[in-house]
Amino acid sequence: MSDRAPNAIITDQDRAMQAAIRRVFPRANHRFCLWHIMSKVPHKLGSYSQYENFKGALLNCVYDSLTCDEFETRWQQVVEKYNLQENAWLCQLYGERHQWVPAYVKGIFWAGMSTTQRSESMNAFFDGYVGPKTPLKKFVGDYDNALMRMVENERLADFGSYNKMFPLITLHSIERQLQASYTNEKFKEVQEEFRGFMMCLPSLLKCEGAISTYEVIDRVRVSGDFIKEVKYCVYFNDTECEVQCTCRLFEFRGIMCRHALIVLTLVKDVKELPSKYILDRWRKDLKRKYTFVKSSYDDLSGNPKAQKYDDLCNDFSEVAFLASDYNETYMTMKACIRKLKEELLCNGLRSESSLSSAPSLHIPGAYSICNEATDGRYQKCNKLRSPLVAKSKGKPSSTRKQSIVEKVVRKLKLTKVKK
Ligand SMILES: [Zn+2]
Repeated sequence: MSDRAPNAIITDQDRAMQAAIRRVFPRANHRFCLWHIMSKVPHKLGSYSQYENFKGALLNCVYDSLTCDEFETRWQQVVEKYNLQENAWLCQLYGERHQWVPAYVKGIFWAGMSTTQRSESMNAFFDGYVGPKTPLKKFVGDYDNALMRMVENERLADFGSYNKMFPLITLHSIERQLQASYTNEKFKEVQEEFRGFMMCLPSLLKCEGAISTYEVIDRVRVSGDFIKEVKYCVYFNDTECEVQCTCRLFEFRGIMCRHALIVLTLVKDVKELPSKYILDRWRKDLKRKYTFVKSSYDDLSGNPKAQKYDDLCNDFSEVAFLASDYNETYMTMKACIRKLKEELLCNGLRSESSLSSAPSLHIPGAYSICNEATDGRYQKCNKLRSPLVAKSKGKPSSTRKQSIVEKVVRKLKLTKVKK
């Protein structure tokens, strides 16, 4: 995890886990799995005489409350109506409402994990490979296999996302933009939102400066022919091209909701979604870091980027070995790495803003990083140029100035040889 705490953790209502997470990851958003909570309702309240009616009211209160205030009002009404004010389980649930009720947790990004999804679904990673009785020694090999399958699946999905795209269902350029950027899986989800246009009716509520507020009536099919009307508010900032909807789908799942999309496309005639609304994690043109992790059965020859990654890791490991002997060399190396990282990040950001130029990165002897826009608009692709191309520019390597890293490594090597 590169020394970083997770932003979000979903567990069942386990007290020990709750205490541990609070202590170890105090800033992480910890949510209880709603599926687990709801599956306990029959066990906790099934013997109650008005159980069926109560359950319907409880589900409405939990799933249909758009705001925290609405949830609190509805909850009070439900427990009073069914005379359940003294029920210890319900009291505890209410006390922890900010950790499980959709109205409270939907403003936080949960990487696509919906409130109704079972938290264990992520365990599918190990399905068929690792079981509760797998001995530790076997676990290492099985983990390797599970990882290999994941990388392979990702490659297949990437291949599929580029070679077989879902056809567009509207004429809006934003849909075309998302088709070009998203993986097929994510695009399928966002197309559902475009399909929902037919059920939405936007109207302007007010304008205050650059901010316009729209009401979007969404007709949701509840069951059979029963249609329910739900009202959402969409705020649009003209100067920043910022949009926010009270359904909080973007904050929660990282994709634009139909309400925001209808305001952007049909009302404001926005032709292109700002890049901040297309999360990197859903893009098909980015290589995930874990695809570079080498497993014992992996053959990297068909993956030049993974080969380079592997090669760099070997070099870094050598540098780390040399620099970790003394505090001074350790500190120097830390400073060098920090500087290198800043340069790489800064370069990456510059590359994104100016797609045509190939900025020079001050790591002498290293490959030059350029950014080539394949279709000029949406595709982002960092390519490492071959050292032969990079060498044709600037001073020849024999006379050029050495970088700090090179100097430090050379000095460290000389010190070792002298010893
Ligand atoms: Zn919305």
